[in-house]
Amino acid sequence: MAAQAAVRSVKKTVDAYTTLRVNVRAGNLGPPGSQRRVRAESKPIVFRPDAAQPYDDRILSWQHDARTVSIWTTDGRLKGVCYVGHPEQVALLAKYRKGESDLVHRAGKWLLLAVCEVPEPTVAEPSGWIGVDRGVAQRTGRGIAVEDLGGIRERVRPSRDQRAALSSWPFRQLGKHLAYKCRRAGVAFLEVDARHASQRCPRCGHTERGNRPARDRFRCRRCGLAGPADHVAGVNVRERARLAWGFVNSPALQET
Ligand SMILES: [Zn+2]
Repeated sequence: MAAQAAVRSVKKTVDAYTTLRVNVRAGNLGPPGSQRRVRAESKPIVFRPDAAQPYDDRILSWQHDARTVSIWTTDGRLKGVCYVGHPEQVALLAKYRKGESDLVHRAGKWLLLAVCEVPEPTVAEPSGWIGVDRGVAQRTGRGIAVEDLGGIRERVRPSRDQRAALSSWPFRQLGKHLAYKCRRAGVAFLEVDARHASQRCPRCGHTERGNRPARDRFRCRRCGLAGPADHVAGVNVRERARLAWGFVNSPALQET
């Protein structure tokens, strides 16, 4: 094995034991004497043949124009190995790739996972907010505020369909993805507590369950304001975001 590849193998092994020690110390494998902990500590760490293998620039080099990599293997250096990717990601790769890459073998395919450090634009002071009640957001130069999905389970007793949606991966990740996309675009993003957002009248403030006679309808029992329930909830979320953003960016808080 080439010297650098040998060094990487040693480092991978050392890193694995360091991770185990940190986990044991943090109590992640249970208290001393627990079955999991004893089992983890009593046998050597074994790597799967297709486990991720880290590569640094000394044993993996990228030729972005040719779309190839040159990579050290146990059989020596392999040159001109083609790679493919989404055009947008390939462009990011050429511009911002940094640090180590992981080579992974999954379902007969070799995947190279590269790290890109993309500079984030500064978040522009929003001219207003788009309140989103579990809906789809458009970009208009305004900030995006969504109801805090974390609290949604306690807040409502969802129907069977909704329960499936709430526990599904895409739904739980929606907030994180939106936050990420907004950060990349320099758009302000907030998650706000949406308690009673679909029961509160945005015109007079009156809040009661009766304001929402049906799942998709809103009608204020005090002032008569009526409209689609999701739209009304979105307006309330927007107002809460406007207030919350004022707090987040108030000079007094920024000094602390
Ligand atoms: Zn009202």
